[in-house]
Amino acid sequence: MNATIIDNINAILRRIEKACETSSRDPQEVKLLLATKTVTAERIKIALQAGQTLIAENKVQELKEKYEDLQEIPHCSHFIGHLQTNKIKEILRYNISCVQSVDRLELAQKLHQRLNSENKSLDILIQVNTSYEKSKYGVAPDQVIDLVRQIATFSTLHIRGLMTIGLLSTEAEQIRKCFQLLKQIQQEIVELDIPNVAMQELSMGMSGDLDIAIAEGATIVRVGTAIFGQRNTPDSYYWNENKQLI
Ligand SMILES: *Cc1c(COP(=O)(O)O)cnc(C)c1O
Repeated sequence: MNATIIDNINAILRRIEKACETSSRDPQEVKLLLATKTVTAERIKIALQAGQTLIAENKVQELKEKYEDLQEIPHCSHFIGHLQTNKIKEILRYNISCVQSVDRLELAQKLHQRLNSENKSLDILIQVNTSYEKSKYGVAPDQVIDLVRQIATFSTLHIRGLMTIGLLSTEAEQIRKCFQLLKQIQQEIVELDIPNVAMQELSMGMSGDLDIAIAEGATIVRVGTAIFGQRNTPDSYYWNENKQLI
């Protein structure tokens, strides 16, 4: 099992390199983030021991369960799931260096209030719903700029870029459109030159579509299945807008 995880990581690193080569990019520009939802701390540690340094959870509960166990190996931890405002206080206990899934003003406001009272700051990405699927979280593409302008006024939040989940589809060209849209929005924001807004990160691409995402400019690819194997919990548990599920 250890060998499998390590082999899988090596295969992904080769895929990243190949995708970079094809699009004349430097592989150093693309960070591999391990999406660790449903994966035990034991198995995550195998990846960290093999030299991986960036992991992310979707749920505060899972973050909490694995936190202590993972402390023995230095790493960096992001959050990529839907964040409820009533979990803000809790998530700030777990040393998250970036929340990639900020998608609404209310969440940013409450994060700012709490960070301010704790004298902390936080890197964030803005999650954009580039596939226009109802089941996906994320701010609508035509509202991103307004949201960025508003969040930029919160001194404790540092916007570092954008995140998206591509369309769930077998049509590469349809998926590509999502990533191209994210890149286009990034460029528009760069041109606006808004104070307290950096746009260096584009977090896009997962096990099935990271090659397309890299071709379109990804700087962070988020990989779960291709490293840790299939999950038993369906993704709808993590992504569905239906509040009853969450
Ligand atoms: C689970 C997840 C991933 C990884 O997806 P895989 O298809 O397992 O590689 C990436 N991003 C987010 C937001 C996720 O929830």
